Amino acid sequence: MFPEQFAYHRPASVGEALHLLETYPDAKIIAGGHSLLPAMKLRLAAPEALIDIGRIGELKGIAVNGGVTIGAMTTYHELLQSAELKSAVPVIAETASVVGDLQVRSRGTLGGSLAHSDPAADFTAVMLALGASVTAASATGSRSITTDDLFVDLLTTSLEANEILTSIEIPASAIGARAAYEKHAHPASGYAVVGVAAVLSIDAGGKVTAAGVAVTGATSKATRLSGVEAALLGKTLDAATIAEATQNASAGLEVNGDVYASAEYRAHLVNVLAKRAISRAAGI
Ligand SMILES: Cc1cc2nc3c(=O)[nH]c(=O)nc-3n(C[C@H](O)[C@H](O)[C@H](O)COP(=O)(O)OP(=O)(O)OC[C@H]3O[C@@H](n4cnc5c(N)ncnc54)[C@H](O)[C@@H]3O)c2cc1C
Repeated sequence: MFPEQFAYHRPASVGEALHLLETYPDAKIIAGGHSLLPAMKLRLAAPEALIDIGRIGELKGIAVNGGVTIGAMTTYHELLQSAELKSAVPVIAETASVVGDLQVRSRGTLGGSLAHSDPAADFTAVMLALGASVTAASATGSRSITTDDLFVDLLTTSLEANEILTSIEIPASAIGARAAYEKHAHPASGYAVVGVAAVLSIDAGGKVTAAGVAVTGATSKATRLSGVEAALLGKTLDAATIAEATQNASAGLEVNGDVYASAEYRAHLVNVLAKRAISRAAGI
């Protein structure tokens, strides 16, 4: 399938890209293109113009400085290559290693994944569990959006049409936290049928002082498992506590089903993967 005709712009700076977005309100940003181009080929998207942000150097890079700042155009491959990032927040490299295949990891970007809000993406859940925020720039300024507020629904975020997601910020509290991401991958694409991320802070006495647990693949958008988080807080974790906290992890979720996995099976996976992710994060 071929996409509809479109104009193509390749700005050299964020400022130029924002100006183009104001000029062409029906334009789409293209990052790695691994979600947008398939949608255009299927004619599910037909933007009048593409604004290719792939050559904007200021959108790339990883800075570990108290917290972590990652440029939106940083690819999964680049996340995997950073020794500094791996040491600060290892669950990011762990997650990048299970996204799609080599080609997807070479082209796909962290910013593109979060801006797309695919219900089966991996990093949406991981960033929620880490308590990450994003910076969105527009011609009139920039603002910070927590990932809790970013994901609104299926393929829908709170980014405005004239905004570009420029960076992802991970708080200092996530550095050194214990974390794990567990997914049941679709055998063809690698997308998460269900994936659960767990990020735990545990004090010297063994008590959980902060817990981030989030799921992807099960519902129309990545979702925090607040009930599980609450059940972990203040506890000293062992197999029994974790089993109790996760036995009904899917309760209250509107779980989706499809030809590959029914809603009932996905709900079961939420419980199982939440238990595995928390157990591994806790070292149990
Ligand atoms: C075969 C295959 C397998 C895959 N498997 C997985 C998987 O296992 N796990 C997984 O998580 N993902 C998977 N993906 C998706 C992949 O991770 C995509 O690369 C990612 O979802 C989107 O990133 P991108 O850089 O390609 O964005 P694009 O496709 O370029 O853009 C996606 C959307 O986000 C918007 N956008 C992109 N960047 C910005 C920005 N900075 N600011 C504002 N809007 C922006 C675009 O306008 C577009 O609407 C797979 C894709 C393919 C083709």
